[in-house]
Amino acid sequence: MIDIIAFDADDTLWHNETRFQATEAQFAALLAHYHPEDLTRARLFETEMRNLAHFGYGVKGFILSMIETAVELTEGEIRGADIRTIIDWGHEMLHAPVELLDGVAETIGELAGRHRLMLLTKGDLFDQESKLARSALGEHFSAVEIVSNKNAQTYRSIITKSGVDPARFLMVGNSLRSDILPALEAGARAVHIPYQTTWAHEHVDDAEIGGRAIEKLSSIRDLPAWLLGVRS
Ligand SMILES: [Mg+2]
Repeated sequence: MIDIIAFDADDTLWHNETRFQATEAQFAALLAHYHPEDLTRARLFETEMRNLAHFGYGVKGFILSMIETAVELTEGEIRGADIRTIIDWGHEMLHAPVELLDGVAETIGELAGRHRLMLLTKGDLFDQESKLARSALGEHFSAVEIVSNKNAQTYRSIITKSGVDPARFLMVGNSLRSDILPALEAGARAVHIPYQTTWAHEHVDDAEIGGRAIEKLSSIRDLPAWLLGVRS
């Protein structure tokens, strides 16, 4: 039996990475006078990785990393109007409508009647709270945890705080690196529901999976039936 089902948010409940990738494409096009687009994307990724420890995950850090990359790649020649454009993309990302993934509204509503549901996500605190409010899913979650990072220790402390046996805690998410492997390491169960695309930072190679059997579903719609299997 599962007592608590914790759901990742970005790319598990609602679309996110596709929006980042669309903005990244606009950014590469903005700097196309200076550099090939592939080079701009690679440099942006390097800047983001360098800045993660300072800014954390989310839109704000992404925007600052784009500005920093633009200044570096243009050797300070980037125009104020172009910086303004980058900042405007950030505002658009922060205020864009929340688009739920297929099957999310029905499945979350159904499961909330039978389990304690938790939202467990990393990212900007304000942005994630705002997205949850706009998603209209908030009433279904009995707990919301917005954390700076998701590693095994994060899962251990959240599971301890929730007072359930780790084996009765299920994590559901799209990222092997953030949602699945650390939850398993903490003794919880986990179900991987891949999104249509994966941010390079979240990519996991086979060696890191280490032959572990990963439960995988192609849609959140399959989760209620999977849970029936756990029960029997
Ligand atoms: Mg995610």
